[in-house]
Amino acid sequence: MLEIQKKISTTLKSIEESLNFSHRDNKTLKIIAVSKKKPIEMISQALEAGILNFGENYLQESIEKVKFFKGSKIIWHFIGSIQSNKCKDIAENFDWVHTVDRIKTAKLLSKFCPNGKRLNILIQINIDSEETKSGVSENELIDIAMEIDNLPNLNLKGIMVIPENKEDKNDLSESFKKTFLLSNKLQMKIKTADEISMGMSGDYNLAIENGSTMVRIGTGIFGERN
Ligand SMILES: *Cc1c(COP(=O)(O)O)cnc(C)c1O
Repeated sequence: MLEIQKKISTTLKSIEESLNFSHRDNKTLKIIAVSKKKPIEMISQALEAGILNFGENYLQESIEKVKFFKGSKIIWHFIGSIQSNKCKDIAENFDWVHTVDRIKTAKLLSKFCPNGKRLNILIQINIDSEETKSGVSENELIDIAMEIDNLPNLNLKGIMVIPENKEDKNDLSESFKKTFLLSNKLQMKIKTADEISMGMSGDYNLAIENGSTMVRIGTGIFGERN
């Protein structure tokens, strides 16, 4: 069996255990394979193993990949930081954008969204108020969400977080719980914004147990990046 298939089956099994533990159906979770810095060949292998959602951070390399897989069933997620001059390419090549944290970005994505397409948007929240990290603050969320929800070509689907690097699982769990409560608050205003993108290779079990609906897994599927 291929190395990737082994990794994927181990990861899927571990995910299944967390879903069972939380009494959740596997339809309530999307698994996003983060393929940044990984070649087309490996994406093909993951696709063959049944993965449909792929996440990319770097626009240049991702556009080549999107082009290569045109006509396939792949759903592309942009999870990198966004500069204004990249909004057109992002709107044209991706299905989901997880890292929107400014209304200006949202407006550009809506403006450049091709005719008839609807771009799925998640608002990134700086859940641990870290100075070096992007994302809106908890207090800003509802205002920016209402504004994005009014833009013509976007579907506001929920929120995304990258918590602070924490040794202690209890501390990390606090960040996830805080995110879950914030998502509930958002859903009281916008019912359809019910997705929570949280959890990576090192912490997806804990994220799933705290209500994540989208896990972004790189190393756990493709192996270490160099
Ligand atoms: C790279 C990256 C991931 C995946 O990280 P792993 O630890 O390899 O699973 C997830 N989310 C974001 C935003 C990333 O940049």
